Amino acid sequence: MDLNFEYLTLEKIAEYIKDNVDAVLVVDAEAGEFKSVFRKGIFEDLIEERGSYQKLIETLWFHFNGSSDKITDEYKVFIPSFGKFTGKYSRRLNISYNEQKYAVQMMVYPINENISLVVLDELDNSEYMQDFLTNEKVKSIQNSYLFSMYIDLFKDETSSISVTEISDDTMNSSIKYSEWRYMIVNMIWPDDQALFMERTDPEYLKKHLAPGRTSSFDCLMQNLEGKFIWVKLTFSRAMTNNSEEDFRFVFMVQDINENAQELMNELKKYEELASKDALTEVFNHGRIETEMYNAFDNFNKKGIKASLLLLDLDFFKNVNDQFGHAVGDKTLKRFARILKEYFEDKYAAIGRWGGEEFVVVLYETNEDEVLKQAEELRGLISVTEFKICGHITCSIGVTHITKDDTFNEAFERMDRALYKAKSDGRNCVRVL
Ligand code: GH3
Ligand code: MG
Ligand code: MG
Repeated sequence: MDLNFEYLTLEKIAEYIKDNVDAVLVVDAEAGEFKSVFRKGIFEDLIEERGSYQKLIETLWFHFNGSSDKITDEYKVFIPSFGKFTGKYSRRLNISYNEQKYAVQMMVYPINENISLVVLDELDNSEYMQDFLTNEKVKSIQNSYLFSMYIDLFKDETSSISVTEISDDTMNSSIKYSEWRYMIVNMIWPDDQALFMERTDPEYLKKHLAPGRTSSFDCLMQNLEGKFIWVKLTFSRAMTNNSEEDFRFVFMVQDINENAQELMNELKKYEELASKDALTEVFNHGRIETEMYNAFDNFNKKGIKASLLLLDLDFFKNVNDQFGHAVGDKTLKRFARILKEYFEDKYAAIGRWGGEEFVVVLYETNEDEVLKQAEELRGLISVTEFKICGHITCSIGVTHITKDDTFNEAFERMDRALYKAKSDGRNCVRVL
């Protein structure tokens, strides 16, 4: 085609666009319809010749944003202009189609009040790369970005923003801010709803968000597939001198789920480390003590019955004296592993009280059964062949948590029961 500068006419430009742009559609928002003027490439399959306007928006907005094509109805309130394009608009979409990823530029030009032109163009790799390099910062926001909008508190108006461009391009919306809050709150995790309502309250914002200030908080919110994810909600107020009558701010929702998940896993790891005995990998003294207090709490508040077991290895000093401390350590490890395995499928908490003494909190087991299990465990230890030191035995003191019990009383009973087991000749179970 002759694209000589001097001879570029409207027709030529139209021809050029037809050759170089991937799809042009016209939409009639009022009638709820669209039709394709032309389409090619991926849009031949993705977009129909004619169809429902609502469906088109849904497709463009959600389906291809690298996600699922199932959108929960609640999510649609995040696009206040879901029903209608008004004004000019431009947005970059990331499309997943047939497991391939495409970057698409979408532009909307209003022709009249109801009719708009939608231009779609797939960016090739180099265009996309260029875009990526020059807009790395924008992209990093975009990666985690779910949604943002302008809000004018005094006019009680909302309008959504094209974040891709971080421009002033907005889509006007007919949803009032005061109404929109009540729609969005349904997508927030029930426990976080009160916080959301407090922080998005116009009076709260007026009081706490000075011109130019930004504030944010994290909560759980449904994503477009209806799954709850961690998001960061940020409010950033425009700098203004006329703060008496001008309160405009940007509200932004970012997906921080991955980071939050990582952080929580990390914390969980530390929490586990902090509550484990380094040698035997059962709970340490502090944690098993907490577990015992919890047992009292569960008993008193929820009526969950619990028994406490104190296990002490018999003549363990001899193991050290005969075979050395390292063998003693290995024996303790093995002993703890046997405890863990024995209680694996039972509702129990196991900890090392100190030295060669272990505590087990055993839940929801009737008293006879507790003694039966303690006896079984004792027998199991006595027949186990431990490496190097051979056979060892243990004595077990048992008590059951009762009404009006205190921690100290129960612990003292369990301790006396163990003492009794020792004085009765060891390698036996006693209950008090
Ligand atoms: P009893 O039957 O009366 O319980 O005799 P015992 O020898 O087990 O009791 P005692 O309390 O006199 O000694 C406990 C021994 O446990 C002392 C110590 O050598 C050993 N011990 C405690 N903690 C550890 C440990 O972490 N590693 C090793 N290897 N030995 C330990
Ligand atoms: Mg001891
Ligand atoms: Mg001992």
